Amino acid sequence: MLLENKTALITGASRGIGKAIALQMAKAGANIAFSYRSSEEKANAFVDELTVLGVNAKAYKSDAANFEAAEKLVKDVLADFGNVDILVNNAGITRDKLMLRMKSEDWDDVIHTNLKSVFNLTKQVMRPMMKQKGGSIINISSIVGVKGQAGQANYAASKAGIIGFSKSIAQEMGSRNIRCNVIAPGFIQTDMTADLDTEGFIKNIPLQRLGNGEEVADAVVFLASDMARYITGQTISVCGGLSM
Ligand code: NAP
Repeated sequence: MLLENKTALITGASRGIGKAIALQMAKAGANIAFSYRSSEEKANAFVDELTVLGVNAKAYKSDAANFEAAEKLVKDVLADFGNVDILVNNAGITRDKLMLRMKSEDWDDVIHTNLKSVFNLTKQVMRPMMKQKGGSIINISSIVGVKGQAGQANYAASKAGIIGFSKSIAQEMGSRNIRCNVIAPGFIQTDMTADLDTEGFIKNIPLQRLGNGEEVADAVVFLASDMARYITGQTISVCGGLSM
């Protein structure tokens, strides 16, 4: 199996894309540590689902936006699992508003949850990965970070920031065999997109439909695995061709 004997830490995997990533990674043989912010019941039920697949799994209530919480999370995961081979920075939120109406809190919430979280978690896994002489970090951005989107200046800035951050980490850590790549999903069916009127978007998507979490997860599994051992600092769009 592609991820046999690996331990993956995934932020925000109680629902949506993070959950799909955790599931596909477990099917590929990885042990799964994942965090969530508030969906305790969903997270616990998901641990049971993962354990049935024969891997070790544990959920941690931990705010990815908080530096000290991220420090504790990685400490706890190392104590429980022994190592972290794969980090997926997936936790993310939107606070969509046109710039004229956007409040300072809308900006701060999104930048802290989507971008500062990537710094927080990456910082904590760096040393353990160096000790293990390797690792794979996958950061979930968005095509909005590449193209921009009216009403999402805060979200676009956070997602563009992830791309610059990831290229820098790839350059810093390449000599240590630590790879860092980005996935930029397009419109994926989750709670985050549930309220969007997607009909207008679909006609611009070459594959003529929204994506699902599993389709993002398959690309993440590839980047996490040794199949991608010579790939670092790259952004792969999983968007049905929308970003062309
Ligand atoms: P979602 O369905 O809203 O799920 C978000 C997940 O992140 C939940 O598990 C949530 O935990 C967790 N989370 C939120 N804030 C957190 C925090 N501060 N600390 C820890 N966990 C936190 O969203 P999604 O659509 O799956 O999106 C996942 C990622 O993909 C995000 O980074 C998003 O920006 C990106 N993305 C999504 C799309 C799309 O079309 N859906 C497109 C491009 C990129 P709780 O359940 O506890 O709230």
